[in-house]
Amino acid sequence: MIFTRHAAYLAVFAAGTLLPILGGAQSFHPRAPADLVIHHAKVFTVDRSQPEAEAIAIIGERIIAVGTDPSIDPFIDSRTRVIDARGASVLPGFNDSHVHFVAGSLSLNRVELGDVTTREEFARRVAATVKRLQKGEWVVGGGWDHEKFPGASMPTREWVDAVTPDNPLWLNRYDRHMGLANSAALRIAGIDRNTPDPPGGLILHDANGNPTGALKEAATGFVQRLIPPPSEEQLTRAIRQGLAEARRFGVTSFQDISHATELRIYQKLLATGELTARIYAITPIEQYQSQVQAGISACFGNEWIRTGAVKGFADGSLGSTTALFFEPYNDAPNTKGLFNAMMLPEGHMLQMAQPADAAGLQIAIHAIGDRANHEILAMYEEIARRNGPGPARGRHWRIEHAQHLRPDDFDLFARLGVIASMQPYHEAGDGVWAEKRIGHERARTTHAWRSLLDHGVRLAFGTDWPVVPLNPMLGLYAAVTRATLDGKNPNGWIPEEKISLAEAIEAYTLGSAYAEFTDEQKGSITPGKFADIVILDSDLFHLPPERIKDAKVACTIVAGTVVYY
Ligand SMILES: [Zn+2]
Repeated sequence: MIFTRHAAYLAVFAAGTLLPILGGAQSFHPRAPADLVIHHAKVFTVDRSQPEAEAIAIIGERIIAVGTDPSIDPFIDSRTRVIDARGASVLPGFNDSHVHFVAGSLSLNRVELGDVTTREEFARRVAATVKRLQKGEWVVGGGWDHEKFPGASMPTREWVDAVTPDNPLWLNRYDRHMGLANSAALRIAGIDRNTPDPPGGLILHDANGNPTGALKEAATGFVQRLIPPPSEEQLTRAIRQGLAEARRFGVTSFQDISHATELRIYQKLLATGELTARIYAITPIEQYQSQVQAGISACFGNEWIRTGAVKGFADGSLGSTTALFFEPYNDAPNTKGLFNAMMLPEGHMLQMAQPADAAGLQIAIHAIGDRANHEILAMYEEIARRNGPGPARGRHWRIEHAQHLRPDDFDLFARLGVIASMQPYHEAGDGVWAEKRIGHERARTTHAWRSLLDHGVRLAFGTDWPVVPLNPMLGLYAAVTRATLDGKNPNGWIPEEKISLAEAIEAYTLGSAYAEFTDEQKGSITPGKFADIVILDSDLFHLPPERIKDAKVACTIVAGTVVYY
């Protein structure tokens, strides 16, 4: 299918009809038959020259025309595949600007027990995971809390043995200070009724003196150390599942906070035609020298797999009171948070970032607290001073999360052209408890999308998957409503920072593309760009905002190929 399309594309290209389109002009041969047409759609193009349309024509991997239904009709001939969008929204494919794709993919095969309140559900979740594993593979995961079970009963291996006859199992309690092993895992670990407790650990026993499977503190190591890291084959399988998740949610590009090791797997999947999302790999800044030595700079790669960005950390997180602020935490007045070790001693981050920038690598730094953000902006300003104006394409410096900002820093953010790579759905969780931690005044410029846009800062949206689900609808919903998970902010938490649905979609498509230097090839539904497109099941702009989160993707198209329908 891909090859036929490709051949057709080349044929048309050879005939010269596509040349003006590839040159960016909107004129084309009106009778060129399309491979694929989407019509009867509410197309939101994210292209200001033509924001709305009804239909799209695609040849090969690219969009060739966008317009009204009648204007696209001439592109349809007997071999054109035609998709009727039935009045639903059609958008550029989503580009998640910050995911941990391998962790996210592996999480799909972990047992999640955080919301489980009964023994039956506990076993059901385990059984569902086991179905996706091979015999002998470890069942891992956790998040359980026995306080939630009737009578606060401690789980035992009997809860899970029946559904795990052929797989060892280890499930952490949510705090990771204890966990549950099944009989197979106890057997492999050599734990029986005679095994003594290790120093600092406890093996729980039943009335007959047999181990129950629950192990505390140091005893958890008996089992945990036996769980092998995922093999390349398991990683490949997980990434395939992650790509299926991306197709289901209309994510046609993602920017992977990567360890570089998975690049080999992405290449393998590209070669076998299984790669259904375009990947921008952002690797650890501590390893920038290996990129420099290999001659890699920003935008290295092809249209499917690219790299050349490096990422560091300025601070920690708000939840663990390690996000770095200028003033102390309201609920922990003895601390203002912590610099990440990469920032220490002072100037250490600059010592990596300046040569990385000089070598043409893009720099992305995690910063949550207002001081961490300020320090990184100041560092970028210093790099610009030392390294000069930088490449003609721009540096596209990024701050990942950019969660809490001092009002004074919005202008600096804009002046340096720094991109705010943000995850709007984090707002829904943070809004429940952030004011307790930092007070109302500081919270007013938290997840400050409106202020950033009004100051001229470019936004790129994503999820931080697996921290929150990969589903972009949750992010659009949070950006538009600023609702919180506890339902206590019906008009939105800090409602002044809401943005429009159109702005949120732009941040999630063209904004993310800009953040990885590909906004001329994707991120909007524009003739000449890649046909990376999602068709939804409803008209997003006419849904009540609180229902945006429930909208589903009906069809995902990547490079002109329908990959989910
Ligand atoms: Zn992250």
